[in-house]
Amino acid sequence: MQDSYRHKGLRRRLIESIKAKGIKDSTVLEAMNKLPRHFFLDKAFEELAYEDKAFPIAANQTISQPFTVAFQSEQLRIKPKMSVMEIGTGSGYQASVLALMGARVYTIERQEDLYHFANNMFKKLNLPQIRTYFRDGYKGLPEFAPFDRIIVTAGAADLPKELIHQLKIGGLMIVPVGEGVQTMTLIKRTSEKEFARKELQEFRFVPFLKGTVGRK
Ligand code: SAH
Repeated sequence: MQDSYRHKGLRRRLIESIKAKGIKDSTVLEAMNKLPRHFFLDKAFEELAYEDKAFPIAANQTISQPFTVAFQSEQLRIKPKMSVMEIGTGSGYQASVLALMGARVYTIERQEDLYHFANNMFKKLNLPQIRTYFRDGYKGLPEFAPFDRIIVTAGAADLPKELIHQLKIGGLMIVPVGEGVQTMTLIKRTSEKEFARKELQEFRFVPFLKGTVGRK
């Protein structure tokens, strides 16, 4: 895998376009400027890696659109050393962006193929601050909870209740909620039993599904 001057130039242009679409957080923009997105895509899509589009990855899933990754990352207001649980590792791109922003990332994937792909990628990129789990994300990771932040990168039909209880008090969760089209929803745990909810703009994600799928 090579990150050429050409890739870097294309990436800088992509970051400029994301900025023009309203992303302001410089830690998000800097992390995305460092990370070679073409590493996470099939060779067939390498030429397109720096367009602001989602692309197919293994197991009929997608790597999120760069603007979506930037939007979710910005909403989380990450500070160095925060613990972040991600549901839906997919290619591993979003988890890598969070790691480059200084987070300690716990990421869960239900498709075994993707879990192995991402796990290898984190090794290649030397990102030991990301831990990868092959599990059903609906259950979260109770043994490591509570988390400072939670990010769901698959479209949930309803707000996943198990997960909000794995947030620290004062912690934030960003989750796309809805069937077909999802409303990006920001949850803040304000006390042991209370949660504030803010609805943001609409996005389209692959569905949040139950159970796990083993290697074929
Ligand atoms: N964050 C990813 C985007 C992945 S698309 C990236 O940066 O590339 C959403 C992912 O969520 C898919 O890989 C899908 O398999 C996964 N997913 C869906 N339901 C899940 C569940 N219950 N637990 C864990 N992962 C799940």
